[in-house]
Amino acid sequence: MEIPKEIESVSKKIAEAGFESYLVGGCVRDYLLDKKPKDWDFTTNAKPEEILKIFPDSVYENQFGTVGVKTRSENSATALVEVTTFRKEGKYTDKRHPDEITFAKTVEEDLSRRDFTVNAIAIELTSDHRQGGAGKRQATSNKTRAHVATPMSLIDPFGGQKDLEKKIIRAVGNADERFKEDALRLMRAVRFSAQLGFEIEKDTASAAEKNAGLLEFIAKERIAEELSKLLMTENAADGIRRMSKLGLLKYVVPELEEGVEMEQNKHHIYTVFEHNVRALDYAAQQNFPLELRIASLLHDVGKPRTRVFKSDSRGAKTYRGKKGDWTFYQHQYAGEKMAVEILDRLKFPKKMIEEIALLVREHMFVYDPELFTEKGVSRLVNRVGPENIDNLFSVREADRIGSGVAKAVPYRLRHLKAMIEKVKKDPISVKMLKVNGNDVIKELKIEPGPKVGQILSILLEETLDNPKLNEKEKLIKKIHELNKFSEKELQKMMAAAKKKAANVQKRIDEEVMKKYFVK
Ligand code: ATP
Ligand code: MG
Repeated sequence: MEIPKEIESVSKKIAEAGFESYLVGGCVRDYLLDKKPKDWDFTTNAKPEEILKIFPDSVYENQFGTVGVKTRSENSATALVEVTTFRKEGKYTDKRHPDEITFAKTVEEDLSRRDFTVNAIAIELTSDHRQGGAGKRQATSNKTRAHVATPMSLIDPFGGQKDLEKKIIRAVGNADERFKEDALRLMRAVRFSAQLGFEIEKDTASAAEKNAGLLEFIAKERIAEELSKLLMTENAADGIRRMSKLGLLKYVVPELEEGVEMEQNKHHIYTVFEHNVRALDYAAQQNFPLELRIASLLHDVGKPRTRVFKSDSRGAKTYRGKKGDWTFYQHQYAGEKMAVEILDRLKFPKKMIEEIALLVREHMFVYDPELFTEKGVSRLVNRVGPENIDNLFSVREADRIGSGVAKAVPYRLRHLKAMIEKVKKDPISVKMLKVNGNDVIKELKIEPGPKVGQILSILLEETLDNPKLNEKEKLIKKIHELNKFSEKELQKMMAAAKKKAANVQKRIDEEVMKKYFVK
């Protein structure tokens, strides 16, 4: 992979002005893993004002020393490049924002404040600034990568490259201290391990376990953002399992912990927790959007609080002896309430919370006997909203696959899908015509009466055969033609037309059914 020229050119311009600049963080990590970075970040010894002088068309509107440099690139990954002055670790007294930003003198110092070794590698693209005389430092570790076209050197004081090869997430320096400085790093460790498919190094993992409780002091918005990033990875399910193992989950979504080791009943092979996590796994494998991943993860969150032991028909209450069973009656309503609490607490957007709550509440729909009538199906579609039906099926699918015992899409579910499509389709009726009863009355100058309906029914039949006829002008001409028939004749024609319309409707319904293999 090559470094994009827009990126090289930013580095060159900074060097021409006599300053150092280094690619750092996620882009270096991804680049070394041969993955396409989603953005490119520089760190520099130039102060924000100096960067603004070099790139007058840039944006500087935060207090963290980051200037957004516009490159005029069409590519969204390289259009805005963030250039941040070397920084020292700030103290996080309120566990929200660093108290103050202090600039550092060297790139090594900047790297030492970063969280994990794989995120603490820098790439120097242009070293001309040394002739410029501004930055006089020497790279401590100067490995030049042979396969790279651009001459460049890597600054890797914490062994990040080695950890990339070993596929491990390791804290920079003392893990215990680093987590105490900023406890969000606990979640970041799990997020990066899921995102990269890496293990968390032993000492880093035990320091994480030890400091799990510090998550309580972290701003909920920061937690929600990291949680969302974790959920959006392919390994989201493993990430949630890892959060649980490290004792982090109980400070983020303790409600999910209630299902750990909780047995269900004979229809389930997994615990409540594992089932929720497996539903999330399906959602991640299908690349569902965030709200569907959260809905899948939370769909059975209400089960632990609604679990009741049910005896068998003879009243025997032994569970381990395979008699009796657990029920989770109305767990979807408990779950809806809990989902709202969880997501409110984490400060997710209102609209997203509403959508997820709805999906959790309605996820049991296939068991609802009223759904085998067309009225019942209409009610579901109206309650959920036609725009949410597909999402509801997605969550239902995650539930089914996440149970571990699902085979092909069951007949009942396919049947329901077909019925929903039927209900959503406009039925064949005179409403489809481009003229209505008033037009007939006006055109023929007649009183309202049976003749109006007769003419409309006949017109409908003719347009079913010939859809091009369904234009106002043509229909009006037809109305006058039909006016020549006697009342008896019209009555007969209408009967035939109605029969034909019913047949067409039946054929359409059958098509829908066939599509879902229910006929
Ligand atoms: P991604 O590709 O997912 O954005 P990233 O590594 O760029 O990954 P960011 O959260 O964007 O992750 O952070 C950019 C860099 O800033 C990290 O690579 C890391 O070096 C540093 N960093 C970010 N947050 C922290 C933190 N809380 N503590 C220490 N260093 C951090
Ligand atoms: Mg980033």
